[in-house]
Amino acid sequence: MTEAVRKTASALTGRLHKLGIFNDADMLLHLPMRYEDETRLTDIRTAQPGVSVQVEGVVEHAEITFRPRRQLVVKLVDDSGALILRFLNWYPSIQKMLEAGKRVRAFGEVRSGFWGEEMIHPRLVSVSEGQALPQALTPTYPATAGLAQSALRKLVLRAFTRASLADLLPESLRRSLKLAGWERSLRYLHQPPTDAKLGALEDRSHPAWRRIKFDELLAQQISLRKAYIERRAHAAAQLLPQGSLSAPFLAVLPFALTGAQRRAVDEIARDIAQPWPMQRLLQGDVGSGKTIVAALAMLQAAENGLQAAMMAPTEILAEQHYRKLAGWLEPLGISVAWLSGSQKKKERAAMLEKIASGEALLVVGTHALIEDTVALEKLGLAVVDEQHRFGVRQRLALREKVVGRLPHMLMMSATPIPRTLAMSYMADLDVSVLDELPPGRTPIVTKLVADSHREKVIARVRDACLEGRQAYWVCPLIEESETLQLQTAVDTYEVLSAELAELKVGLVHGRLKPVEKAAVMDAFLRNEVQVLVATTVIEVGVDVPNASLMVIEHAERFGLAQLHQLRGRVGRGAAASSCILVYAQPLSPTGRERLKAIYETTDGFEIARRDLHLRGPGEFIGARQSGVPLLRYADLELDVDLIEAAKQAAEEMQARHPDAAEALLTRWYGGRAELLKA
Ligand code: ADP
Ligand code: MG
Repeated sequence: MTEAVRKTASALTGRLHKLGIFNDADMLLHLPMRYEDETRLTDIRTAQPGVSVQVEGVVEHAEITFRPRRQLVVKLVDDSGALILRFLNWYPSIQKMLEAGKRVRAFGEVRSGFWGEEMIHPRLVSVSEGQALPQALTPTYPATAGLAQSALRKLVLRAFTRASLADLLPESLRRSLKLAGWERSLRYLHQPPTDAKLGALEDRSHPAWRRIKFDELLAQQISLRKAYIERRAHAAAQLLPQGSLSAPFLAVLPFALTGAQRRAVDEIARDIAQPWPMQRLLQGDVGSGKTIVAALAMLQAAENGLQAAMMAPTEILAEQHYRKLAGWLEPLGISVAWLSGSQKKKERAAMLEKIASGEALLVVGTHALIEDTVALEKLGLAVVDEQHRFGVRQRLALREKVVGRLPHMLMMSATPIPRTLAMSYMADLDVSVLDELPPGRTPIVTKLVADSHREKVIARVRDACLEGRQAYWVCPLIEESETLQLQTAVDTYEVLSAELAELKVGLVHGRLKPVEKAAVMDAFLRNEVQVLVATTVIEVGVDVPNASLMVIEHAERFGLAQLHQLRGRVGRGAAASSCILVYAQPLSPTGRERLKAIYETTDGFEIARRDLHLRGPGEFIGARQSGVPLLRYADLELDVDLIEAAKQAAEEMQARHPDAAEALLTRWYGGRAELLKA
């Protein structure tokens, strides 16, 4: 190899890597985004404006003109007529291809231009007279700078001769699922025959697409099941349910657990009594009572003389959990420690001592828990609240506190995860669902109000508070500027303080010192403050049952999950609650769509489904950072049946055809394995 050849080769490799192509198998799985029909020629005379066609002709004349700007204008003629090809920029090779007398095929959309019928920047091929037309539709691949479609097509053809085309799905399974053959499907998608239905190819409903999507989902299921099984090979402390702490706790709890809570508690109790680490997601809509479920699990760890830690994403939330746990447990003589980044040195030292001495087995905190100075070698159970707010690293860091074994992990999420998403991306987790709210809650009434009626909203707040209730007033999210957001909150606070002079109005925002924040929240909890003006810092977890009115300004700027979370701050007590979404016109289509969804339903799972529809899975679960490969072809909404089938097939493959299962993983992830680990 000469130096020059080597350089070109490595440049090509680099470009292919950019597309996620590391080997021939990847190349074959690099499937077209769309197709062009170059199997037919159209007479120039019959070409319809606005339609993409392919014409073939001889260049009669080519010139570079300078008015109105520099451009290459070419007159192409066939037996039926003439057409102008126009280029605003071009490579010398194009100019050469279009010298007078040369024959070319041009593919593009015809339109009426200054010089008559014309094609701007058509795709060109030089041909000789009578040259045969392609026998397949022409694929268009996802490409990158410096890598032309023609090069990709050649590389795909080469990959067909080098990569394994074996059907890895056992014949019996393939037949019972009525799926097309693997090689046939691949060839069909890379080179569809001239009579292929373009519609079914492009919306990916064609049987060939279904086969690819099935295998993709199957590979995902197999890899997640593998992770699940591998986890069981690790050791964990067996936390046996003793009841010595949980029984007295349940006895003083002022309410009975819901059926769903009892089920979740049992599932967790059973899991953490095993000698391998639990990895469980506790899903429950806002207000479904996840904290108690976690508290009971933590007590089970303490009953076995081991530590349990609960990590929450914000100071407010961590502190609230701490107060709740301490309030419940300290009267029973169970000590709870609390850690946060902004804690006073003295308090922190005292807490660290409490933890180190073993006086407190239960610890609550923000990510301050992860810091090296915090000794959690006896951690038996880690609870991560609002788990989607943490990165993988932070979750892993908690695990690494312990040497020689893994702690059990309980992840909690108040943003319900749509079933399809949980089934695919989270198949390595066990899931408990709290599908029942504690009794006595009255449904929240949601109202949409245009911001021109702000006065009426203020009157509603006054009425509610004079009846002894409390209200939240959430200020608009201003993504571009935190300062502006803060300013708006301060302004709103001043306006409401003036208008609601008979009430006490409080203000909480992200720039307050934690002690100040805690003081305001405290005053609100004790009803010394009736109206709490807040930025989105109150979004997650905050629990003040007497608050029954939620006002959200510029609701159209918030995401669906966020609106659902905010609304979930009310409806926690017995009083009828409402949520007033104040919006500004004009609404964007997505803004309208979101408000409609939140207005129409309070069911977190339904909202999550619509959110997934609006945002797509990548953003939804932050999959990029979770290390789970994103699905490239299968669609969580359209391909539900395939997900279910793949889930079952994965079990059968691993049990009865382990080699094929491995080969499938290699085919889909082999080239990227290193990438995913990074
Ligand atoms: P979330 O699931 O949103 O984290 P919380 O754990 O904060 O919900 O619980 C919401 C509220 O419901 C709290 O005030 C909690 O004390 C109360 N609660 C929890 N379980 C029950 C129950 N079984 N009966 C009555 N109230 C409950
Ligand atoms: Mg919570």
